[in-house]
Amino acid sequence: MSLIGHFIGGEVIADCSRSLDVFNPATGEVSKQLAVADRVTVEKAITAASAAFPGWRNTPAMKRARVMFRFKELLEANADKIVAMITEEHGKVHDDARGELMRGIEIVEYACGAPEFLKGEHSKNAGPGIDTWSEFQPLGVVAGITPFNFPAMVPLWMYPMALVCGNAFILKPSERDPSAPLFIGQLLKEAGLPDGVFNVVNGDKEAVDVLLTDPRIEAVSFVGSTPVAEQVYRIASENGKRCQALGGAKNHAIVMPDADVDDAADALMGAAYGSAGERCMAISVVVTVGDDTADALVEKLTARIAGLKVGAGTVSGQDMGPLITQVHQQRVAGYIGKGADEGAELVCDGRNLNVAGHENGYFLGASLFDRVKPDMVIYKDEIFGPVLCVVRASSLDEAMALIDEHEYGNGTCIFTRDGETARYFTDNIKVGMVGVNVPLPVPVASHSFGGWKRSLFGDLSIYGPDAVRFYTRRKTITQRWPASGLREGTRFAFPSSK
Ligand code: NAD
Repeated sequence: MSLIGHFIGGEVIADCSRSLDVFNPATGEVSKQLAVADRVTVEKAITAASAAFPGWRNTPAMKRARVMFRFKELLEANADKIVAMITEEHGKVHDDARGELMRGIEIVEYACGAPEFLKGEHSKNAGPGIDTWSEFQPLGVVAGITPFNFPAMVPLWMYPMALVCGNAFILKPSERDPSAPLFIGQLLKEAGLPDGVFNVVNGDKEAVDVLLTDPRIEAVSFVGSTPVAEQVYRIASENGKRCQALGGAKNHAIVMPDADVDDAADALMGAAYGSAGERCMAISVVVTVGDDTADALVEKLTARIAGLKVGAGTVSGQDMGPLITQVHQQRVAGYIGKGADEGAELVCDGRNLNVAGHENGYFLGASLFDRVKPDMVIYKDEIFGPVLCVVRASSLDEAMALIDEHEYGNGTCIFTRDGETARYFTDNIKVGMVGVNVPLPVPVASHSFGGWKRSLFGDLSIYGPDAVRFYTRRKTITQRWPASGLREGTRFAFPSSK
């Protein structure tokens, strides 16, 4: 069985005192072994990155951007291979895997603009004979820790921007689906990135703990569940590092009485059940305004769920693949039982689904709950599976209050045909990413991605303009070259423009 290693100093290394099984979730079989990095291996990566940093820092931004141009072409040329790797270890259907890769490539395209966004700011004659400018210097060695649910896209949210800003990078991808991030990282070498500037260490908490405490790591980007995000943010901050830690979510959609209910139902099917609900922007709660809206929507969702195709992601025509692990499948099934026990109306039950030929895969069908109440566990917790909860409200303000009071604030959307309602919603809702008739309002690469409340710890969102701020440190230089005859002599008053 093949052993997945690390990528350190431009070489694949299979250092391994411990290993983990990597599963194919569609079959339940172990497909590979993963080398788990210990302190020595992670320190080897930090040493390689530290050595590569000075040369890369001083490489002109245009040349750094050229590596990204070539990287983009290599990602496109290898897309089929990457998609197959994602599906084999994550389980999502091919089209969905291709979609996440494309969104990742869009970040690489944005990163190609480095010479423009690293230009800095300049003020001539800020004082007599004095010019001043601000420049954005790279931090040094920075780290990224990523979740299982987007093995290609989420790492690409981080390192293209970190690298073009002049940093060296160490990625610690999820141990559940490590092949795609490792392969993609190696394409950077082919694209001309000097050895050691980008490294991958595979593993788990042991590797993360080294990255969070080693003084040579300047900053940490984390994406994963909220309990781990909060802990990573705290430990990184205590160790003097800049940190952005993106956490979990419970994204609500509001369906207004004036909405086109067919359109809303179509959009909600993809947003709730696409990728088996394992998306941080998945819609997991629909708040309907008015009982008529609720009745119509539940009827239309029920009809669509009956036609949903669940199966192996490698089989064409499937809408939804398996969950990531057996433990997670059982956890989600447990929530379905809990919701029924709590008194919610289980309209569609996705448990006990049998996918012919894949009896040991981690599949669940789509589940739909109606009449969910805000004090129920299935409403409060992030389930991260194909489970959609309908909460019935009687007004827009009641629906918005539910969203505002929830601990998470990643994404939300409203379905309406009324501009005033949409404007009131987008202006006032306490959520970081907001859609109007757009169920998954994931910002494009030229904006930044980030939730509010307990969906993001830190001040800056990920990718886009915030990434330039996160991965650089501002330095402001004030310069005077005294012309002869303009000497000012000694002055003791604080310098000002007077
Ligand atoms: P996770 O928190 O279990 O793992 C994320 C990463 O942290 C992995 O690399 C893992 O190895 C590491 N890790 C796990 N436990 C750790 C610990 N105790 N100490 C240090 N490191 C640890 O998350 P997951 O299950 O891989 O991913 C799903 C979660 O990620 C969901 O909650 C989802 O909402 C969230 N997510 C959020 C976003 C976002 O942008 N906000 C995007 C994608 C996923």
